[in-house]
Parts: sequence; C-alpha cells; structure tokens
Amino acid sequence: MGQVVKEVTIIAVDDEPANLFLLNEILQEYTLITLQNSELAIQLIKKHVPDLVLLDIMMPKVDGFDIAHEMINDGVLRSIPIIFISARDSGEDVSKGLSIGAQDYIKKPYNEVEVLARIKRVLQMNSERKELYYLATRDQLTGLYNRNYFFEAIQIKMGMANRKKHKFSVAIIDLDHFKQVNDTYGHQVGDSVLINFASTISSSCRDYDIVARYGGEEFIVYFGELLKEEACEVMDRIRQRVENMVLEKNNNIRITFSAGIADISVLEGSNGNLETIIQKADECLYRAKDEGRNRVIIQG
Ligand code: GH3
Ligand code: MG
Ligand code: MG
Repeated sequence: MGQVVKEVTIIAVDDEPANLFLLNEILQEYTLITLQNSELAIQLIKKHVPDLVLLDIMMPKVDGFDIAHEMINDGVLRSIPIIFISARDSGEDVSKGLSIGAQDYIKKPYNEVEVLARIKRVLQMNSERKELYYLATRDQLTGLYNRNYFFEAIQIKMGMANRKKHKFSVAIIDLDHFKQVNDTYGHQVGDSVLINFASTISSSCRDYDIVARYGGEEFIVYFGELLKEEACEVMDRIRQRVENMVLEKNNNIRITFSAGIADISVLEGSNGNLETIIQKADECLYRAKDEGRNRVIIQG
C-alpha cells in the first residue's frame, strides 16, 4: 500500500485583505483558505476541519478571541491548533491568547521567514500529537480502538447523559475455535484472520457505534441508542455475514463467532456501572459457547 500524503489545510481569518494576501504568499506549500468575515469563521472551520487556524484578533463583531473560545468549547474543533496573528502586542494580549489555548502568538508586523517557521513547528507538533493519540487509543494489529479507549469513551458518554435517556447495548464477541486456526495455519495467518474480521465488523457497524479489540480474539461493540433486542438483530446479521464469507483467501479460511449482549436495563434499580453491563454480556457469551457457538445471546 502506498503512503497517502494528506494535504495540509490552513484557514486564516483576518478582516484586512492585505494580511490575507501576504499569508497566501508565505504559505504557498499549503492549502490556504482565507476568510475576511469573522462571523462565518466557525461555520467554515466546521466544514473543512483544517490542520491549523490562524486568527487575527481585532475584527468587527466577532473577534479572534471569540472564535478561539468557540473552538475550544467544541468537541471536534478543540483539537485544531490555533495561532493568533495580531497587531495587539501587549504582554496581556499575548498572555490571554496563550491561556485560551492557542499554540502560538505572532505579533504584526512580522518577519515572513519567522512566521513560516512558527507555523511549521505548530503543524509538526500537532501531527506528532495525533500520532501519539492514535497509538494510545488503537489496537496495533487491527487498527480498531483498544480496550482503554473503549472504557474511557463509554464512561464519558454515560457521564454526559441522564441514564434513563441514554439507551445503549454492549456486545462481547469471541471467535469460535480460533486456536485451531493458529494451530493449523500458524500465527501469521491467524493474525490476517483477526485483521479481516476486525474490518468486517467495523464496516458492519454505524459510525457512532464503537468497535474495539477487547483482547486476543475477543471484540467489544457499543451500540448507541439500541436496546438489546435491536442490537441482537444487528449482531445476528453480522454473524450470518461472517459465517458466509472467506476470511483468509490463501487458505480458504472461514470462521464463526459467538456473542453476548446486555443493555443499560441491567442497571435498573441497582447502582451498577459499565462493568456490570459487560459482565452480563460476558455471561451471555459463555452461554452462547455452551449452547453450541455461532450464535448471539441476549441478557434475559
Ligand atoms: P472458543 O470457541 O472456546 O472461543 O475456542 P478458541 O480456540 O477460540 O478459544 P481459546 O481461548 O482456547 O483460544 C484463543 C486463541 O486466540 C488462543 C490464542 O493463541 C489466539 N490469539 C489471541 N490473540 C491472538 C493474536 O493476536 N494473534 C493470533 N494469531 N492469535 C491470537
Ligand atoms: Mg477467547
Ligand atoms: Mg475463541
């Protein structure tokens, strides 16, 4: 697979066209989107989700600090780095800009070479940060989320919403007789099966579900807004899909899986937590194994 080089996109907001023109000259190696009307900034940033935002501060109606505040308070936009570029050069302004969360503050008039160097530095730091985040939250073999991420993401979801309103189910999946695959074809072939299984399951779920590798040949899925019966229908379709496909073409390997599902209703009248739901799903998984494998069982 060739490496995909993603274009770096930068949005610059400044009410003065000459400033934007100059930035266009300096930043030719990047895709630069410029905007004069700061009232439209958040909308434009949401649309493009750029790699960096450059903000003038003094602008009519909505100033650069306002835009930065709004970005920091948005779940998605908060991870986009910000650099203020402003004629306001007091220590207080610089301090305010940096304390809001900007990565840098450049005073106008500026030196063009220095500005480019500062922008490059922030972009580099951000791409390292993203790489670290990826490594910390993903399973290295399959690219799915890892167990830690799964727990953290769901705790946050559970904390944010009132339990009664927040419907969800959890499914635990375990491949059937997977040891035989390793024993017959070797660990590397086993790894390919895991990778293909992971991509099948994640492509069968919706974007707002969370699919993670729970351990070895076990996976876990969070189905947002679905109760156990609905989640069971989805999971059973995936089960049939997997049953009917070849998961490793060189050796014509087919596998099946068993799954257990529990939902938020197990917490009714108790002070249980996410662990309780997972434990219930796990009990169902064991029953699925006991009752012959290749099946999905929901909490009774
Ligand atoms: P069951 O139907 O009862 O689940 O049987 P099983 O063989 O799947 O269960 P068991 O727990 O005995 O074996 C799981 C196997 O999964 C053993 C282990 O070597 C294998 N495994 C776990 N992680 C990996 C991995 O990252 N790569 C490979 N290739 N195999 C793995
Ligand atoms: Mg297992
Ligand atoms: Mg297994």
